[in-house]
This record gives sequence, C-alpha cells and structure tokens, in this order.
Amino acid sequence: MQQEVATGGEELEVWIDQDLCTGDGICAQYAPEVFELDIDGLAYVKGADDELLQARGATTRVPLPLLTDVVDSAKECPGDCIHVRRVSDKVEVYGPDAE
Ligand code: SF4
Repeated sequence: MQQEVATGGEELEVWIDQDLCTGDGICAQYAPEVFELDIDGLAYVKGADDELLQARGATTRVPLPLLTDVVDSAKECPGDCIHVRRVSDKVEVYGPDAE
C-alpha cells in the first residue's frame, strides 16, 4: 500500500542541489518524468514539456500524481539534495531542510 503524502492542497515544486548529488540515479528510477541524469552524471529536474532544465538548482512543479514518487526520491536520495517546497511561500515540506 502506498503511503499517503499530504500536500495541504498546496502546489509544490522540486529542485536539486547538484553540488551534493552523487549521480546514483535513484531519483530518475523513482520518478523518470521529473528527474533525469545529464551527461555530466548529475541529476536535474524536467520542465512541464519534458525538457531537462540544465541550470543548477532549477525548479519545476510537482504534478500531483507523481508526488509520492518525488517524495520517495527525496527520502531515499543519498546526497540529501532533493528539495520539495511549497510554491506559495517557498517553505520546504520534504527534503533535508523540511521541519
Ligand atoms: S537520488 Fe539524489 S544523489 Fe541520487 S542522482 Fe538523484 S539527486 Fe542525485
């Protein structure tokens, strides 16, 4: 059974701190629609049109159906470098800086 992930009805976005990424690819396995490894061996997020956002720390919206996969990625990320935050106030809700 999948664990419920609470959003509080808020829109969420995700970004990766590439400085800490180990390049293991776990996130790209969990949520390939959102994460992908680039040729530099680090993970980046994808934009809404499936294009890889190659700027470090780029942010993309988390589609609700993929939220569980994205949150699982953040929990399992060996680099502790996947950050999920509310769009409205930029408060991190899943990831190393979440309360
Ligand atoms: S799970 Fe974390 S450390 Fe691993 S590739 Fe993804 S962002 Fe990088």
